[in-house]
Amino acid sequence: MTNWCDHCERAEEADVCSICGADLVPEEAGPMPWRWKFFFVATAIYLVFRLYQLIVWLTH
Ligand SMILES: [Zn+2]
Repeated sequence: MTNWCDHCERAEEADVCSICGADLVPEEAGPMPWRWKFFFVATAIYLVFRLYQLIVWLTH
């Protein structure tokens, strides 16, 4: 995984820039925000509900 140093404007393979010593680990490398988990769960429940409605509609 290649990181990018904004100070030196160069790619760096390590987590720390070898030129200026800046921390290059991107912020989005952290755990998934709970809002996204809630969004995916809500979407899954909605799709299951719509699928259930479709099956009921098809079998009647
Ligand atoms: Zn740098």
